[in-house]
Amino acid sequence: MNTSRVLQLSDYMAIEHQLGAHNYKPLDVVLSRGQGVYVWDTDGKRYLDCLSAYSAVNQGHCHPRILEALIDQAGRLSLTSRAFRNDQLPLFYEEICALTGSHKVLPMNSGAEAVESAIKAVRKWGYQVKGVPDGEAEIVVCADNFHGRTIAIVGFSTDPTARQGFGPFAPGFKAIPFGDADALEAAISPNTVGFLVEPIQGEAGVIIPPDGYLRRVREICTRNKVMLILDEIQTGLGRTGTLLAEAHEGIEADVTLIGKALAGGFYPISAVLSNEEVLGVLQPGEHGSTFGGNPLACAVARMAMKVLVEERMIENAQWMGERFLFGLQALNHGVIKDVRGRGLLIAMELNEDAGGARKLTEALMARGLLAKETHTHTARFAPPLIITAEQVDWALEEIAGALNVY
Ligand SMILES: *Cc1c(COP(=O)(O)O)cnc(C)c1O
Repeated sequence: MNTSRVLQLSDYMAIEHQLGAHNYKPLDVVLSRGQGVYVWDTDGKRYLDCLSAYSAVNQGHCHPRILEALIDQAGRLSLTSRAFRNDQLPLFYEEICALTGSHKVLPMNSGAEAVESAIKAVRKWGYQVKGVPDGEAEIVVCADNFHGRTIAIVGFSTDPTARQGFGPFAPGFKAIPFGDADALEAAISPNTVGFLVEPIQGEAGVIIPPDGYLRRVREICTRNKVMLILDEIQTGLGRTGTLLAEAHEGIEADVTLIGKALAGGFYPISAVLSNEEVLGVLQPGEHGSTFGGNPLACAVARMAMKVLVEERMIENAQWMGERFLFGLQALNHGVIKDVRGRGLLIAMELNEDAGGARKLTEALMARGLLAKETHTHTARFAPPLIITAEQVDWALEEIAGALNVY
């Protein structure tokens, strides 16, 4: 490898274009360094990161304590597979259960894998415990969901871009409108084993359900012996101002999925968290992952959870989230259709005739703030949870300025 080769923005873009699959449309900025809430491009220009890798770097870029845990563990033991035991996995189990109040844990790698794993476990639970006839298990999901990119998952997506051309898909899923508890009640049959839902739909544009929705969903699921599976891969780990978004309605899911920020952006690690019953059905050989639960992932995740709590990032997300949201709501620009959010998961939706939010994210990039549009008309603001009041105020000024492109 020739590491002395000097590349320009256009060179990086050309190589990506030629050699990479074109499954993303990134902003044209090439980042080479990050620290805290900031990232720097290859020219040394600094940006405030208001995406946080889709909420995978809640703890901030290159958090020093997580970095130290990574380096330390990488020098001792990185991977054993689950054919043998390692000295980090049990401690990871203990700490994540203490943090979340869960009883059983299944460690995986990506978010999509956690979703797939939950579907498998809940189906098995349905056959073994609920007594659903073999092959008949149904799982209810919501319209406009985002749960990942595998075949089973895109099969129950309602987004044509996510699914078109990728079939045939797995049967056994039924979609209902999000935020409509009556629709859930109506969709449940004797063969329904689970209801898979995001507490707030992140990719759909930070869609917050009506107050009381999750409480009613909890009650309906309990009454019908349906496992409530909350996908907190984006909303979890402090993003909405509480450890898990379910806390906003004081409920507990039967199965909770976390990923993204579980390792502070250093490593892909996800987990299925459940009551005794659901993950209790899995027997040796029925499910697995070569990298799932590896000691490096566990050591990094242990520290990522520790700093989240010890450095009071969850409380900070609540306070800074309110400041950010109120600041955006105070912006007086005709192009803004709606501003909404919880904690530091915030969206600004623009009027449909504005020509899309991409113009806004590009203007913000020029001003040193990185954010990403989700769908066409909505910009999402989700900085690392360590953002300060001064940094929020700076972001608000830049957003106000950037709106002048409309
Ligand atoms: C990102 C995300 C996923 C998928 O996670 P990957 O690690 O990209 O597979 C699943 N559900 C939600 C809600 C997400 O935001």
